[in-house]
Parts: sequence; C-alpha cells; structure tokens
Amino acid sequence: MIDLFNPSEEHAALRTMVRDFATHELEPQAAAHDRDERFNLPLFRKLGDLGLLGITVDERFGGSGLDAVAAVIAHEELAAVDPGFCLAYLAHAMLFANNLAINGNDAQRLRVLPDACAGRKVGGMCMSEPGAGTDVLGMGSRLTPTDDGYALTGRKMWITNGAISDSELGDCFLVYAHAGAAGSRALTLVLVEKGMPGFRLGQKIHDKLGMRASTTAELVFDAVPVPSENVVGSVGSAVRSMMRNLELERLTLAAMSLGIARRCIEVMNRYATDRQSFGKPLREFGQIQRHIAESWAEWMAGRCYVYKTAAELRLDSGGNRIDSDGVKLYCATMAKNVADRAIQVLGGYGYVGEYAVERLWRDAKLLEIGGGTNEAHQKNMTRDLAAMTILR
Ligand SMILES: Cc1cc2nc3c(=O)[nH]c(=O)nc-3n(C[C@H](O)[C@H](O)[C@H](O)COP(=O)(O)OP(=O)(O)OC[C@H]3O[C@@H](n4cnc5c(N)ncnc54)[C@H](O)[C@@H]3O)c2cc1C
Repeated sequence: MIDLFNPSEEHAALRTMVRDFATHELEPQAAAHDRDERFNLPLFRKLGDLGLLGITVDERFGGSGLDAVAAVIAHEELAAVDPGFCLAYLAHAMLFANNLAINGNDAQRLRVLPDACAGRKVGGMCMSEPGAGTDVLGMGSRLTPTDDGYALTGRKMWITNGAISDSELGDCFLVYAHAGAAGSRALTLVLVEKGMPGFRLGQKIHDKLGMRASTTAELVFDAVPVPSENVVGSVGSAVRSMMRNLELERLTLAAMSLGIARRCIEVMNRYATDRQSFGKPLREFGQIQRHIAESWAEWMAGRCYVYKTAAELRLDSGGNRIDSDGVKLYCATMAKNVADRAIQVLGGYGYVGEYAVERLWRDAKLLEIGGGTNEAHQKNMTRDLAAMTILR
C-alpha cells in the first residue's frame, strides 16, 4: 500500500531526520525567539549541514535534488515546532534557492547556490512593496538601462530574511521590477547582493502578531547598479517564473499549516485525557469531542490535498495554480481554526505560553495573508475554474 505522506523510503527517512532535529534543536529555543523577536542564525545555518537549505536544488550546485513532496515534509515537520523559524527557511530554500535554481543560468547557480545551500549566505525574495501587494504588477520598482546593465530603484516591503538582526541586511535577494517602457506590465527578475552600492536596510519590522522568530524588513534600492549577468532569465520574462515559484511557495505554506494543526491536535488530545472536570476527563464531554474530532478530520482532509498536489507539482514547470492556491486557501484557515479550538480545549492554560498553542495560533494567521491572501486565492481559483466546465 502506498503511504501518501511518505511515498518512498527516502521521504520517510527525511521526515524522521527533520522531526528529530525539530524536537531536539528547535523546540528548546522556539518560545524565547518568539518572545524576543529574534532570528536564530546559528541554528538556521545548521539546516545547511542537514541538506535542507537546498532541498530541491540540484546536487551539482550543492543541493539535495529532492522533489516537492520532500519540501512539504520538511516544512510540515519544522512548522509543527517553530513556524517562525520555518518561515525563514521557506523564504531562503523555496523563494530564493529553488527560484534561482529553476529560473537562473549555470553561471548564477554556480556562483551563488553552493553558499546558499550550505547556509553561509541567507537569501530572500522581494516582490511586495509598500504600495503594492496583491496587485503585484502594479509595483513601482524600476530597472533603468545603464552602460553595463541596469540601475534598480524602489522599495520592497515585508521581506522575510531581509535582515538577519536588528541592523544587518540579509545576504542575497531575488528582486522583481519593471524594466520596460512606462506602463508596461512585464516584470524582470534580478539578483541583488549585500554590499552593492545603494542597497540598504530600510527598517526591520517589529511587533508582528506572529512568525516573530523570522525577520521581516523593508529594503531600499537607490539606483543600485545591477550588472547584466545578474538578470535572472530574460528581461521582461519574470511573470512566468514568478507564477511558477508562487505555486511551490503556496504549497509549502500549506504544509506549514499542516504542521501547526498537527501539533495543536496532539496538545488538545493529550490535555483532554489528563484534565478532569466534574469528575471526568474533558474528552468525555460532547462539546470537547467536537473540537477534537472536527480538527482531526479537517487536518486529514488538508493533508491528503497537500500531498496529492505535491505529488503532481513539477518544480520546473507551472500549471498547477488551482490546487496550489486551493491547498493554501483551505489549510491556512484550517490551521487557524484548529489552533483556536486547541486554546478553547485548554481553557486558561491555552491562553498562555506553556503549551505553545497560543504561539501557533498567532503564527497561523500569517498563512491567510503571506504568499497571497485568501481573497487572492479565491479570485485566481474562480478565474481558473471558469475554463473547467466538466470537473476532473
Ligand atoms: C510576515 C510577512 C512576511 C512576508 N514575506 C514576504 C516576502 O518574503 N517577500 C514578499 O515579496 N512579500 C512578503 N510578504 C508580503 C505578503 O505577500 C503580502 O502582505 C500579501 O501579498 C498581501 O499584500 P498587502 O499586504 O499589500 O495587502 P493588499 O494587497 O493591500 O490587500 C489588503 C486587503 O485587500 C484585499 N484585496 C486586495 N486586492 C483585492 C482584490 N482584487 N479583490 C479582493 N480583495 C482584494 C486583500 O486580500 C487583503 O485582504 C510578507 C508579509 C508578511 C506579513
């Protein structure tokens, strides 16, 4: 019988390895890094030793050469313990390393990916701006031609891994901008690295509701000279590569939701046995049974949808948008609701940090916004469904 969630021995071994790391190394530091809004850079670098930072990158460039199912397993296991840390991992491994591996050329891959896969450099992806999020093609960042390339001018907002501390920039970024004539909707993707003149940290964003163990920053590009060899793909062709990478982003954000939900179900299930009220364990009360049973059923439904979509997703080609949007739309709200029920089952103990469910509840909310809002998924899916008069 095929195990949908561990389709090969390699996938099962990966899950065991990541779960072991999460239990022994992530768990002890998760609450403190959330409280202090601090990114654990030394621990992040260790993901490189485990082969996780370049999980989908070809071995020729320092990666592990695994598939989308493997990426889902890694995100599910890390997020079950520390979603904030996992978000930093996603921004680096999916939005930067995988994006460059798929859309870049060999010279760019050879120059940048070995350091990114080993954890010597921290990467991120810059799409959103202060004035343009969902309306991504309305972004204002511009590439102006120069003698040997382009000058990049603009601001990017909400960039995960944009900073690695309160004052220090991350190392390398894939940045989307317009290069064509004014009014053109075409986008171009360029590689920008720390140290380029005019590239600086605008601000590290504080007081986030959740995902506080990852950094979020505003980045400023003030006529940054970008050589032609840093253009990823061809000028004006980046909408296609953006859409392709968004599919993997949404799938792995959905996998994070699965991890959050699983942990919350484990906590409420155990608590409902241990805690007595009116002389019986909580799990004997029908209203508590509803919280636990509905959470399990929704988690399993989401899990089957995510793993089916992962099995079908090809990293080097798009075309799976309806389900990469669909898994995130379903799982983000599922995880938020499951975390909410876990708090309810634990009563006052759920409202404080001891059992982690309040942190997971705060972290879960981001998944309805980042990588595309719920409303954006509803819009995309309904548009794609218009062409499907007979459903498969
Ligand atoms: C913690 C965090 C980390 C992030 N990391 C990154 C990152 O690494 N890189 C990056 O590029 N971005 C990142 N983002 C940005 C994220 O992708 C955006 O916040 C998201 O796409 C929404 O954009 P916005 O915030 O500008 O909201 P808006 O686009 O302004 O939307 C505001 C509201 O209006 C709704 N809305 C907008 N347009 C429509 C429409 N046509 N129909 C119906 N409703 C609509 C939205 O759904 C939402 O409810 C991050 C955000 C956060 C909070």
